[in-house]
Amino acid sequence: MSDPVLVFDVHLDLSMNALEWNRDLRWTREQLRRWEQFMKDKVDRGNGTVCFPEMRRGGVGLCVATQIGRYSPYFHRLPGWNSPEQAWAQTQGQLAWYHEMIDAGELVQIRTRAELDKHLELWRNSPPCDDGTPYVVESRRQIEKRPIGFILSLEGADSIVTLKHLERSYESGLRALGPAHYGPGVYAHGTDASGPLPAKGKDLLKEMERLGIILDVTHLCDECFWDALDCYQGPLWASHQNCRTLAPWNRQFADDQIRAVIERGGVLGMAFDAIMMVPGWRHLKSKPADFQLKIERICDHIDHICQIAGNAKHVGIGTDLDGGYGTEQTPMDLDSIADLQKLPALLRGRGYSHDDVEGIMWKNFVDFIRRAWE
Ligand SMILES: [Zn+2]
Repeated sequence: MSDPVLVFDVHLDLSMNALEWNRDLRWTREQLRRWEQFMKDKVDRGNGTVCFPEMRRGGVGLCVATQIGRYSPYFHRLPGWNSPEQAWAQTQGQLAWYHEMIDAGELVQIRTRAELDKHLELWRNSPPCDDGTPYVVESRRQIEKRPIGFILSLEGADSIVTLKHLERSYESGLRALGPAHYGPGVYAHGTDASGPLPAKGKDLLKEMERLGIILDVTHLCDECFWDALDCYQGPLWASHQNCRTLAPWNRQFADDQIRAVIERGGVLGMAFDAIMMVPGWRHLKSKPADFQLKIERICDHIDHICQIAGNAKHVGIGTDLDGGYGTEQTPMDLDSIADLQKLPALLRGRGYSHDDVEGIMWKNFVDFIRRAWE
C-alpha cells in the first residue's frame, strides 16, 4: 500500500471510548476486538474501528476530539448524568485522559495557529523520498511513533455549569463547541427535539464569540439552528453532518441549512455512520448489507454539498466513527478508520481534482481553522 494521504477527522469521541467503553486506544484493533469478544453491555462491542495504531496507518494525523457529558432531566428517557455538575466532572476526567495520552507521546494538543502549522509540518513536510514521493518520508517505525494532533471540542454543552466553566474550558484548550446533542438540552435543543434557543443558549453563544470558540452547529434542532446563526457572528462549522435530502431525518441538514453554513464560510464534515448515510435505516435493526452500503455512498453527500456551494471547499471529514456504534453500522468496506484511504480514489473517479481531494481530506478544515485563529 502506498503511504496514506493526510486525513483530518473533525469528529472523534476518543475520550468517551477510553472512559465509557474502557478502550485503551493504544491497543491494536485486533487486541480491542478480542478483549470485547464476549461483552454484551454495548451494541458495538467487538466492532470498533478506531485506535491510535489504525489512525496512524490511515494517515489520520490530526483530529478534533470531543469531551462529552450530558445531563438528563429527572426520569427522562435519554440516559445522562443527574446534574450538570456530574456531567462537568465526567468531562474533566476525559480531559485528564487526554493529558495522560499527551504524556505518553500518543497525542499532542493543538491550541494555536503556530501549533497547528508545526504539527502539519511534522506529518506532511518531512524530507521527501529519493523518488520525490510526498508523505513517504520516514520509516514505518517512525510514523508509528508520531503523535496524533487533536483539537479539543465539546459535544453538547450541558456540562458547562456556569459561563465561568466555559472560560476554564477555553483555558484547557477547548476550541469548538456544539451546544446540543440528542433531545432537549440546557443551552440548546438537539436531534429529535424542537423549540427555540433558550436565553441561556444565547448567553453561551455570546461568551463563545468573545472567547473565540468555534460554534459547531451539528445536532442543533432546526429552530435552534436558525436562532444560533442569528445570535452568533463568529466562525461556525458542522463537524459531523450529512445531507437530509439523501438520508431524510432531522439529524441531517436540509439544503437551506447547508447553504447557510456555506454562506458563513463554514465546512461540513462527512459522517460514516450508516444511519446518516442512507434513507430508511432502522436503528439496531438494519444491517449495512441491506443497503449494500459502501464508502462510495458518502461521495453522493459530498457531491450534493459541492453542488450547493459551487466548489469543493466546504466539505471535509468528520467521521464520528466509534461514536456509540461500530462496524454493525458502517459501510461494508469500512473495517477500520484507515479505510478512509479508499476515499481519495473514489473522489478522483468522480472527477475531483487532486486539490479538491486534498481539500476534502484535510485542507478545507485546516484553512477554516487558520482563518478562525488569525
Ligand atoms: Zn454526534
